[in-house]
Amino acid sequence: MTRFRFVKERKPHLKSPGEIEAMKAAGQLSARALKLAGGLVRPGITTLEIDGCVEEFIRAEGGVPAFKGYGGFPCSICASVNEQVVHGIPSGDVVLKEGDIVSIDTGAIVDGWVGDNAHTFTVGAVAPGIQRLLDTVERALWAGIGQAVCGNHIRDIGFAVQSIAEAGGYSVVRQYTGHGIGRAMHEEPSVPNFGREGEGIMLEEGLVLAIEPIVNMGTKHVHILEDRWTVVTDDARPSAHFEHTVAVTGDGPVVLTRE
Ligand code: MG
Repeated sequence: MTRFRFVKERKPHLKSPGEIEAMKAAGQLSARALKLAGGLVRPGITTLEIDGCVEEFIRAEGGVPAFKGYGGFPCSICASVNEQVVHGIPSGDVVLKEGDIVSIDTGAIVDGWVGDNAHTFTVGAVAPGIQRLLDTVERALWAGIGQAVCGNHIRDIGFAVQSIAEAGGYSVVRQYTGHGIGRAMHEEPSVPNFGREGEGIMLEEGLVLAIEPIVNMGTKHVHILEDRWTVVTDDARPSAHFEHTVAVTGDGPVVLTRE
């Protein structure tokens, strides 16, 4: 789940190697929940059905869905279809159909630690232009992760993401960002998907970040629907969202949400 950009910055909480190890359990469960969700994506299923299966799975595995009740969010996953950017509320009225894309965001709490990840899935066959968008944004995520090393700055991540997104002819959403993560889902610092190299706080061992490019095919401008959650593109063109929870360590970035 993304963080609204314009929040007051405080000092990040750094995690010990033991705490990062403990966070792996939350990351792994979040990843398995996302994989389960992706396996359910097909024409004819509703996003509420996927939400129900994910919630049941997370609880059966001893976790707690991180999003349910967060800031009043009513469900366990975010499911954002096509021009929906992030924070789509699962609904029995949203039936996936061939050619759609759906960005699913899952988070789990295990032993008080939070994991957070997202992936944009295709529903059946999609147009080549859509597939190119998804491939580019996933590549941007990994480029961002590659910058999550000690001594780099927070904006090096955003610079890497933005460079790849814009080289592909796409635009980066400004209002919603990645974030620090730990015992709370949204900790310091914000991790914007844009910026100049060398700017922002220096990355140090023990920072754990949710890195999550949010990239639109058309305009970067977005707005929120009347449900007060769902973010959509102003031009109704599609948007993609990929996310991993990543620890900055002396051995380089460790992706906690990779199985
Ligand atoms: Mg997030």
